[in-house]
Amino acid sequence: MKPFDYQRAADPRSAVAALSRQSEAMYLGGGTNLVDLMRLGVATPAVLVDVTRATSDAIEESSGGGLLIGAAARNSDLAAHPVVRRRYPMLAQAVLAGASGQIRNMATVGGNLLQRTRCSYFQDIAKPCNKHRPGSGCPAREGDHRNLAIIGHSSSCVATHPSDMAVALAALGASVHVEGVEGTRTVPMPGLHRLPGDEPERDTVLEPGDLITAVELPALPFAARSRYRKVRDRASFAFAVVSVAVALDLADGVVRDCRIALGGVAHVPWRATLAESALRGAPATAEEFTRAADLELAGARPLPDNAFKVPLARNVLVRVLGELAS
Ligand SMILES: Cc1cc2nc3c(=O)[nH]c(=O)nc-3n(C[C@H](O)[C@H](O)[C@H](O)COP(=O)(O)OP(=O)(O)OC[C@H]3O[C@@H](n4cnc5c(N)ncnc54)[C@H](O)[C@@H]3O)c2cc1C
Ligand code: SF4
Repeated sequence: MKPFDYQRAADPRSAVAALSRQSEAMYLGGGTNLVDLMRLGVATPAVLVDVTRATSDAIEESSGGGLLIGAAARNSDLAAHPVVRRRYPMLAQAVLAGASGQIRNMATVGGNLLQRTRCSYFQDIAKPCNKHRPGSGCPAREGDHRNLAIIGHSSSCVATHPSDMAVALAALGASVHVEGVEGTRTVPMPGLHRLPGDEPERDTVLEPGDLITAVELPALPFAARSRYRKVRDRASFAFAVVSVAVALDLADGVVRDCRIALGGVAHVPWRATLAESALRGAPATAEEFTRAADLELAGARPLPDNAFKVPLARNVLVRVLGELAS
């Protein structure tokens, strides 16, 4: 591993200042993704600025009736928080579906959102990859893409975003609080992560030096009836082949409102807006759930070895909608 300096920032402003005055500096959360990438030579920072004490790790009710989650909150604390479990069960379930207990104890909310793709070519610097070496090509299109994207991909990159937590946050419509060189701002989810287009090296809309300080959940009372379901190749320690986050608001057998996002299918946590629109005002029946899922997935463009994800995503979504409705 390339030698690096270690620094610890005491607050958001000094973290942002530390990154802007030093070239090749990166923020360090729990290090569970970044340090792996440094070992592989994919990330080669000269300086690590530890931000686990620069932002809050508190999880508290926000002024708008939602929940404010400090970026330094550990994944295990988020999943165990009683308000998260009661009011946003899909979020607790999504976090618990990821990694292992030890990793969740280390991983932070800010770092989880910005973890990088698990595409095997991206993690191997001996191979071409437009994401780690722009312009070098995308061997995954012709090679191993079984677990890569079926929707929203480009000729430059077919990677998927790996975070389970981000799928639940996209469904819930969370806001990401950011401190940058120009001051503070919020970025909506979905909207933090970007489709690859012809710049797959950029995973998000964040600018260099931007620090995630918190994630805010809206009040969304009907999220108490929500669920996260993840399909993976092994029962634990495996990333999603396909995942689904759903919150359902029902009245007299009719869908009053809903929030749906899919994971493991795109370069972003995929908010299923077409399915949501189709379901609002529709009877909560298996036929309507299937119709909505088919509508959402009609835009899928799978590659030869991942076409199975289209019916898989549809079936999981229909199943979870049915479970929440019953
Ligand atoms: C074996 C294994 C299995 C896993 N399985 C899963 C899984 O099934 N599902 C899943 O979702 N995840 C899984 N993970 C990934 C894990 O969730 C992430 O590694 C973790 O969430 C990253 O958080 P961190 O705090 O350690 O981030 P770090 O590794 O410290 O940082 C990740 C990135 O975020 C940046 N960063 C960190 N904090 C901030 C901040 N506040 N503002 C701006 N930038 C920041 C860093 O510069 C870096 O680029 C797995 C990891 C491992 C090692
Ligand atoms: S899918 Fe993206 S990350 Fe994977 S090899 Fe292609 S460009 Fe690289």
